[in-house]
Order: sequence, then structure tokens, then C-alpha cells
Amino acid sequence: MKTTTGKCKYCGQIMTLEVPESFTQEDIDQEVEKKCSCPEAKAFWKIEENIACTESTIRDFFEDKDGMDAIRNLLLSATRPLAEGKIGKITITKGGYTGSMKPTKDGIKISLKYTTEDSVES
Ligand SMILES: [Zn+2]
Repeated sequence: MKTTTGKCKYCGQIMTLEVPESFTQEDIDQEVEKKCSCPEAKAFWKIEENIACTESTIRDFFEDKDGMDAIRNLLLSATRPLAEGKIGKITITKGGYTGSMKPTKDGIKISLKYTTEDSVES
């Protein structure tokens, strides 16, 4: 461990902290941002937590669902843009399945629906 200083890139606050020897200045600054109480740093880490949490939820959710890899992988790659507000909602269909994901007040909601449809064309 070494004692060093890092800077929050959002508010410029300098903090002294103890980090592993292997940490680069970038790692150190990131540690400071995790601890910093300015609203920008807090908002950033809330999004990062949201992404990590959603990704693990998706993995668990699809663990016992065979043949759904394509939907799962697309949802995983959409997690970050969704959490960052770059996209609003994603819907993927495969056979009778519809996988969707949308932001809610506190996080992200993931759902998978199975529907059968009887239809006829003439
Ligand atoms: Zn800050």
C-alpha cells in the first residue's frame, strides 16, 4: 500500500488515501470519485452500480433459459447505454419470446414474455 493523493474530476477536490502499490493515477482518481460527496460523482457511481447490478440480474435471469443466448447478450450490451440514458427502451423478439428492458425510477426492469399467436392470412 502507498499513501497518495487523487483528485475528483467532477469537483476538483483533492483527497489523500491509501491504495495498493499497483494503482495508477487514474485508478487513484477513480477511488477519490467513489468517495467524493459531490453530486456529479455520486450520480456517476449510481449509474455504474446500476449497470453492474443489472448485468448480474440478466445473467441470473437467463441462467436456466435455454436457447435465449441471443436475447441475453443483446440485453447485456444494451445495459450501459440504457443506464446512461442514451436509449430509452429495448425490445427483442425471438420466436414467441419477447425480451425487454426499460429504465425505472430506481433501476432497470427486465422482462421476458412468451406468447403464442394464432393467426391466419387470406
Ligand atoms: Zn467530487
